[in-house]
Amino acid sequence: MSDPNCLFCKIAAREIPSEILRESERVVAFRDINQKAPVHILLIPKEHLESLADVADHHGDVLADLFQAAAHLARTEAIDKSGWRLIANNGPDAGQEVFHLHFHLLGGEPLGPLVAPKR
Ligand code: AMP
Ligand code: ZN
Repeated sequence: MSDPNCLFCKIAAREIPSEILRESERVVAFRDINQKAPVHILLIPKEHLESLADVADHHGDVLADLFQAAAHLARTEAIDKSGWRLIANNGPDAGQEVFHLHFHLLGGEPLGPLVAPKR
């Protein structure tokens, strides 16, 4: 259910301080420590899943809660009209650094292209 060595499990358990904005039965949302946009929030399931690759048939409720929490936070952060982006990095090519499933909720300014041109 939770991994004693996982940073985000520790944040969810309040063993490591963070700015928690919202908590429900299955989901916790907190501000990213390295803000990449005026609004940059991380949404995690309380259950330790490494990435979306770990999602199974019985995770429908937790996924619904994550998306609903994202839409709710977009409203409370007042970016629902201007627009926002929800991103999950999965694995090395996506640059995933913390191996506890999380969605980045970003907004508050024009976010630019989804993927920076490389060539
Ligand atoms: P990712 O690259 O998708 O795995 O994103 C990991 C994110 O976690 C990065 O945006 C980090 O800035 C963020 N992060 C790392 N440590 C913390 C922390 N203690 N509190 C809040 N966010 C963190
Ligand atoms: Zn974890």
